[in-house]
Formats: sequence, C-alpha cells, structure tokens
Amino acid sequence: MPESADEVYARVVAAVGPEGRLPAPPVREWDAFPWEAVDGHVVPKVLPAPGDERIRDGEDGGRPCPVCSGGLADRVVWENEYWVVTRDEKPTGLPLVLTLWTREHIDVGDLDDEHAGELGKMANRMVRIMQGLPNVGRVHVNRWGDGCAHLHVWFFARTKGLANVVGSYAVEWDEILPPVPEDVWRADLHTVATKLANWDGHARA
Ligand SMILES: [Zn+2]
Repeated sequence: MPESADEVYARVVAAVGPEGRLPAPPVREWDAFPWEAVDGHVVPKVLPAPGDERIRDGEDGGRPCPVCSGGLADRVVWENEYWVVTRDEKPTGLPLVLTLWTREHIDVGDLDDEHAGELGKMANRMVRIMQGLPNVGRVHVNRWGDGCAHLHVWFFARTKGLANVVGSYAVEWDEILPPVPEDVWRADLHTVATKLANWDGHARA
C-alpha cells in the first residue's frame, strides 16, 4: 500500500533534515517554467514574443511518434483493444502517476460518442481504484496534450495529509519529493492493474 504522510515526511527528513530543502527538479530549466529568482525574489519570467505553434510528436511536420514506435511498451500497466494505461519509467514523488492513452492518433473533441463514453468510464474507474488505495488523499485528472498526437490523460494520486502537496502543485511536488520505494510502487501498480482487468482488458503489472 502507498506510504502514509508520516512515512513520506520521515524519508524527506532523513534525506535533508527537518529544515532542509530538497533539490530543485529539472523542470526549472524548461522554457515553459514561469518563475525565476531576481535579486532574491521569485518573480515571473519575461513573456517572450509570440512564435510558431509547436507541432506535436506524430503530427505532420513534427518528430516521429514515440508511442507508435513502441516507446511505451515496457511501461504498460493495463491495456485493451482501444486504451492503454502506462506508468512512469521509475517511481516518482507521488504514490502513483498513471497515464491513459488511445492507441490511435485522436484527441478529446474528436472521439465518437462510444469512445467518449468509454473515456468517462475509464477515468471514473481509475480514480475510484487509485483513490481507494490506503493513504491516497485524492487523484487529480489532467489532460494537457501539447506534446503528442495521442489522447493521453494523467492521473496523479497524492498522499493524504501531506501538507501543501495539493491541487495543481501536487504535480510539481511529484518531481521534488524523493521517489517512492520501488517495492511499494510495484505492489500498488499490480493492485490497480488487477482491478482494471476485473472489468476488461489485460493486466501487465
Ligand atoms: Zn502514435
């Protein structure tokens, strides 16, 4: 089962001490990261002038699609004919982060009614299963879609009672907190995969 807030906190204190700061994650180097330190204050970056819209991976003129070329094959947690659920390459700071993909290049807004209905059922089921794990406070569901031509929806399970690790900033803390122990993470992936397969498809974790 996922660690309790006390267990996560104890690992952080063991790593950096009770007043210590965890290292900043690579996300601070991304162009899209909006904050920077100037004269000892954290302030928004200067907004660049408008440019071309980025072409997503797998779209005409963009880079090859990493999904169609099998880039996620070793990260599949569950799958059926139309949908695939993947994990990260390795544990991250939040108890569980999963991504739901379509096998084909399609996006929200383009699904037919049957698959739009399935998306709702899949999302509802994944939140129920992940939120049902002990010590999970809530599961946040996010669809951004600026990177790849496959519909993909993120599910972020955050730890119950871990102060400040809430809302959209829980996603930032996923990269800041020290990774969950691998055995804990794999056991939780197996639980979610098995419960999804009770409904349909095949568990792969
Ligand atoms: Zn593709």
